[in-house]
Amino acid sequence: MTALDQRTLRALVRAMPKAELHLHLDGSLRVDTALDIARTRDIEAPGTFGAMRSVLVAPDQVTDQAELLAAFDLPILLMQDAEALERIAADLVEDKAHDNVRYAEVRWAPLLHTNQGLTGRQVVDAVWKGSVAAARKAETEVRLIATLMRSHAPERNLAFVRSLEKHGVPDGLVAVDLAGPEARFPDPELHREAIELARSMGLHVTVHAGEWGGGAQVLRSLSVAPERIAHGPHAIEDPACVAALVERGVVLDLCPTSNTQANIVPTYEAFPLKRLMQAGVRVTLNTDDLTVSDVTLSQEYEGAVSRLGVTVPELWDLDLAAIEYAFCDDETRGRLRDSFLAWGAGIPELFHP
Ligand SMILES: [Zn+2]
Repeated sequence: MTALDQRTLRALVRAMPKAELHLHLDGSLRVDTALDIARTRDIEAPGTFGAMRSVLVAPDQVTDQAELLAAFDLPILLMQDAEALERIAADLVEDKAHDNVRYAEVRWAPLLHTNQGLTGRQVVDAVWKGSVAAARKAETEVRLIATLMRSHAPERNLAFVRSLEKHGVPDGLVAVDLAGPEARFPDPELHREAIELARSMGLHVTVHAGEWGGGAQVLRSLSVAPERIAHGPHAIEDPACVAALVERGVVLDLCPTSNTQANIVPTYEAFPLKRLMQAGVRVTLNTDDLTVSDVTLSQEYEGAVSRLGVTVPELWDLDLAAIEYAFCDDETRGRLRDSFLAWGAGIPELFHP
């Protein structure tokens, strides 16, 4: 990093083709779109840009994960019809492409968007329709992850996965996820049946873990055999957990800004990215939420170098690793790898610390 000043670093990470594996649709609404949807659907919400923004963007630091989740209440209220879902998905893919994110896995919980009569599957189809149209236009790739809520009854999550099974896996959907208030619903085992059914349908499995309860929760989540874990930075404090992650090759999709906001780490600088890398744990860098955390992937990449001690060549390796850990098919993976490497071949800073 000493060779690069902040401006050069910023330009470099901005231009870098990037892959993002941990990104929530409902945490990534454009303020303008939120205002428009609230107005046209007559939903009670702030009426000015500034007031809406202050509701959609969470404070720099709150007490815990449960408090951070409050920032999702209004977005979910606004995302109850197919047109709104399509539009918000298209906005996000466009915004990510603008930040040179060339591959994004977008996740959200379909069952939170059925208040006005959409089925879970119709929700998935609407998000895919918006995503894929925007992705084609922006020459980027997008895949979807359906989140099962920890707070929903296991039978509801199972019924949702069964409904997907009935008519075949929807286009674009590559995985299921488990997320939601972890302190109140700490046990992933409750949702084992839904998760196993999804796996048997060829879907990949990821779970949120360790936003509460530290390394013990990360270790606990391994009981449902996720290929990747969303978050889990405190795994580093538990040698047994580190050993299990390394041995099984489980990936942690990390989000330093979001975890600082949720007070999972006391400061951004305390985020143990470098230590996890040094311990041999597979990791990727992500934003979690474009709007709730008010951060782009370029800013997260820049922070990893300027505040977390990652070198530029290490950052490039993290970026390339995300393609390898992505839940896309191998043909797409190969294409992304080739295009990323072709870009990187012209940038000497990526190879010499
Ligand atoms: Zn997340």
